[in-house]
Amino acid sequence: MTVKANGSCLCKAVTFSFNIKNKHFDACHCAICRTWGGGPALTVESDGGIEFKGSEFLSTYSSSEWAERGFCSKCGSNLFYRLKDPSHNFCNFNLGTIDNHENFEFVAQIFVDAKPGNYDFANKTSMLTEQEVLAAFGFDNNKLN
Ligand SMILES: [Zn+2]
Ligand SMILES: [Zn+2]
Repeated sequence: MTVKANGSCLCKAVTFSFNIKNKHFDACHCAICRTWGGGPALTVESDGGIEFKGSEFLSTYSSSEWAERGFCSKCGSNLFYRLKDPSHNFCNFNLGTIDNHENFEFVAQIFVDAKPGNYDFANKTSMLTEQEVLAAFGFDNNKLN
């Protein structure tokens, strides 16, 4: 069943909604996510139906040839990561920007081989290395950052 998720940046200039298949979130431990957000990125995968309001305040940063990251240009909240090629239809929203995210379930950690040794989540989740994530997308080298 498709469910709508709603969210906003800290200053509420940008609000959005998107479809989700389930109330799950993942953590990405890659170096780019950690620099982008100050720690591992906790994200919820969208299932299409993405709509923004206040998009004049929505900025994107091209973090690689394949992907870009969206943020509010007024308050600086990081909002999403998406693959530029629309055929992938892939966009992850940051957990903390989503309304009622406290009842979402932590299911997976990715790029676990990129995680530094000075922190660990206690949650029991599936654990995927960079190579396993890339293989799941059909990429043969580092195209997700
Ligand atoms: Zn904002
Ligand atoms: Zn990452």
